[in-house]
Amino acid sequence: MSRAPATEHWDLVVVGAGPAGSATALGALAEQPGLRVLLVDRSDFPRDKSCGDGIAPHVLDALAPVGAADVVDDWTPLRHLELAHGDVSVSGPMRREVHVVPRRVLDARLVERAVAAGAVLRTHRVTSLTSTGTPVVSGTVSADVVVGADGAHSVVRTTLLGKRRDPRAIAIRGYAPTTPEMAGRQVIRYGSRRQPSYAWAFDRGDGLANVGYGELLPGERTGDRAPSRRLLLEQLEELVPGAARTGDDWRGHHLPLSSWRWDQPDGPVLLAGDAAGLVNPMTGEGIYYAVATGIAAGRTAAQAVRAGRPHAAGARHRRVVRDLLGTHLRHTWAASRLAQSPRIVDAGIRAAGRERHAFDTLVELGLGDGRIDTRLAGGLLRALLRPPDPSPEPSTQTRGG
Ligand SMILES: Cc1cc2nc3c(=O)[nH]c(=O)nc-3n(C[C@H](O)[C@H](O)[C@H](O)COP(=O)(O)OP(=O)(O)OC[C@H]3O[C@@H](n4cnc5c(N)ncnc54)[C@H](O)[C@@H]3O)c2cc1C
Repeated sequence: MSRAPATEHWDLVVVGAGPAGSATALGALAEQPGLRVLLVDRSDFPRDKSCGDGIAPHVLDALAPVGAADVVDDWTPLRHLELAHGDVSVSGPMRREVHVVPRRVLDARLVERAVAAGAVLRTHRVTSLTSTGTPVVSGTVSADVVVGADGAHSVVRTTLLGKRRDPRAIAIRGYAPTTPEMAGRQVIRYGSRRQPSYAWAFDRGDGLANVGYGELLPGERTGDRAPSRRLLLEQLEELVPGAARTGDDWRGHHLPLSSWRWDQPDGPVLLAGDAAGLVNPMTGEGIYYAVATGIAAGRTAAQAVRAGRPHAAGARHRRVVRDLLGTHLRHTWAASRLAQSPRIVDAGIRAAGRERHAFDTLVELGLGDGRIDTRLAGGLLRALLRPPDPSPEPSTQTRGG
């Protein structure tokens, strides 16, 4: 069967204008001002996205070189983190500030920056991708390079890699009035269901807190059913009393968790963010990976177009992302496997209460590009073997044990 020819051609087409897509456009246009970039999303902006809205400092580090680190301006930063599992908990200041910015605001600001840099934004739901030869999107738009940044249910990823059984979590979020207990902090409370399972309350600083609960989805082969919305909200209410009762604007979504190995096929179609299966399996954080891999994909795409070698882009993107995140992804995968044991979760929280280094390293593993080093491993081992410590370090506080 012959295919109808595409009716327009771009240097780069980016499918999806979430953080990964906007960052791709910003990366490409920083690398090659004047590149012809089409940014396509099925939604008009501003639009909401189910998320905890937690913006790690690494997101801003990644955005600074492309001139967009000010997207969190006029939102109050916070430093205080509380981690708890039952009556074992640690609470203390993180080394660096984080922000909690509604995605309705953050994503619209990122899109604005991408358009100001020269990208053309179009509202369109991509229905197909032809990836042999010059890639063609929805049968009509061709490009030297296409970047799939279309999120957890990516059409681009499915076309490229087929349907895969990668691990996924499901989470629901809402907004609730900030209580004194939540004020000025990020609260994470682990549950007792399939790990990772936890509830959170992240203070936005404007009288509302982002509250939610998520857990690992059962594998397809187990035959177990996915948790219902009601169950997710019951878990939230149990772990953060009052949050589900007082919250509204509920919205759920899947999280494609990263695993031991990250893959990207050769060719002119690249993947970034959730479409690349990049969500931290310990914490569900994905915005940093989305922005970092988006910028990398954009830069690689621009270099490949400039060199007249779009088909070399895939291999280069694979190398760049593995250099950037490969070791970290292996370490978070290992940490998430360990954290399936409630004893290890408790040991991690106790180690973080005893040693500042363990607290900081766990935060770095969960938010950015941290690794499990020998000091953290030693702290975990000691916490597993030693009885609970009644005298925590002054910088962090633990209770229970
Ligand atoms: C409940 C919940 C809480 C979370 N909390 C946090 C958190 O606190 N911090 C954190 O860092 N991460 C968090 N995450 C993860 C984070 O939301 C994602 O990792 C992040 O949104 C990934 O960005 P992205 O640009 O890859 O994908 P998305 O943000 O999903 O953007 C994809 C875009 O593609 C568009 N699109 C999809 N399909 C098509 C199509 N066919 N055609 C055109 N456009 C399309 C969508 O409209 C969307 O705008 C959370 C996730 C969930 C579900």
